[in-house]
Amino acid sequence: MNFDTIAAISTGLIPGGIGIVRVSGDKAVAVCEPLVRLKKLSLSQAKANHLYYGQIADQNGVIDEALIAVLRAPHSYTAEDTVELQCHGGPFVLQKVLDAVLKAGARLAEPGEFTKRAFLNGRLDLSEAEAVMDLISAGSELARETALKQLQGKNSALIRRLRAGILEKTAFLEAALDDPEHYELTDYEKEAEPFIQDLIREIEGLLKTADDGKVLVEGIRTAIIGRPNVGKSSFMNCLLGYERAIVTQIPGTTRDTIEESFRFQDLVLRLLDTAGIRESADVVEKIGIDRALEAVKEADLVLLIADGSETLSEEDEALLALCEGKTRLMLLNKSDLGLKEDPAALEARYGCPCYGISAKNGSGLEAVLEKIRTLFRLSEIRQQPLLVTNLRHKELLREALTSLEYAEKTLQSHAPEDLLTIDLMDAYRALGRILGEEVEEDLVNEIFSKFCMGK
Ligand code: GDP
Repeated sequence: MNFDTIAAISTGLIPGGIGIVRVSGDKAVAVCEPLVRLKKLSLSQAKANHLYYGQIADQNGVIDEALIAVLRAPHSYTAEDTVELQCHGGPFVLQKVLDAVLKAGARLAEPGEFTKRAFLNGRLDLSEAEAVMDLISAGSELARETALKQLQGKNSALIRRLRAGILEKTAFLEAALDDPEHYELTDYEKEAEPFIQDLIREIEGLLKTADDGKVLVEGIRTAIIGRPNVGKSSFMNCLLGYERAIVTQIPGTTRDTIEESFRFQDLVLRLLDTAGIRESADVVEKIGIDRALEAVKEADLVLLIADGSETLSEEDEALLALCEGKTRLMLLNKSDLGLKEDPAALEARYGCPCYGISAKNGSGLEAVLEKIRTLFRLSEIRQQPLLVTNLRHKELLREALTSLEYAEKTLQSHAPEDLLTIDLMDAYRALGRILGEEVEEDLVNEIFSKFCMGK
């Protein structure tokens, strides 16, 4: 395809050892040529895939010393001619180099535009392109592994295999309908039914990984609720201060909230509304129940904390009822003071796993984390060859599944075969959209607009 030449800082704006200004498009070399001073040759004479030491300069003088690489189409990230200017990684220097490149005729790239070009130029399919951003934002081992597999085309290969099967069956049907003299359709149902049922089973399996995988890759949204003074914030601090835990602050889904994400090995918990928990007790008392309700609604996991040094109160029971139906754990805190209730007995009474813990000295925490790993079947999920984590893919898989279920019904009701081909082709097209076939331009733009600058 023919596009204009774009440029951006590809390494972010935090000072670092090296920062890269990337230029891509037919005129990438021509745009950079007057700015790049190499020792013995001009930029257009530079060999592809080699690094050259040189200077970046404009009419006012030298801006930086850099290593410069030229990548020739189609052997570059975008599949276009690309120049990479590897400068010193300071925001000011990089901005000045970028300004010079823009002045020389490039256009500032939109977020994700390099990857969008890789897609439009056919180097990546849409699912692979989407994986690029997943890999960049991966915050856990499982997220990284999953994104990398998708980027390497493992998900796409599976979708292509399913589509090839559907196409073959549809082609046979179409041929037989067009040319009944040479094609026999009498035994067709016997053969088509197991084929469709296998497809349905396979897509259902993928959808199941979508439900499990998304939670684990993005982090289990965890609500910590409990009466005032039971030790919610102490528990949270204990969790966040836990040995080997890696804590990051991420903006919450509701405005003005801060979420903290807690990572322990392959377990990632996103603690919902941590600001709310940390507020002083009287504020919590006033708005506590609303806030707890809100957090519970959003949560994949509820940790209900009670004061284990006292017997369970009516309020504790009310909170327990509040999170009925959710994946939940009751934690009897302050076990260092001696537990008044027996966790096993409570578990039997309320049907909610119950653990004695001490936020003060950390005892019992390991068992709680282990239980969470089991509840979310973490080990089992990590063994899956493929995880679908993208919401768009999940919706399209559902669409394909619905069409295949129609196809199965059509077959079972002995309706005319041409109805069957319609259902099968609907499934085929839904799967194709995962790879980016027949998707609208608006959708493509929306997907890439969520990318970071320079990617
Ligand atoms: P919150 O209102 O639920 O957030 O409760 P806090 O975390 O503020 O704790 C209330 C009080 O209980 C504080 O005085 C804590 O020091 C105390 N506390 C919290 N956890 C423990 C614990 O495991 N053992 C003991 N002995 N005291 C605790």
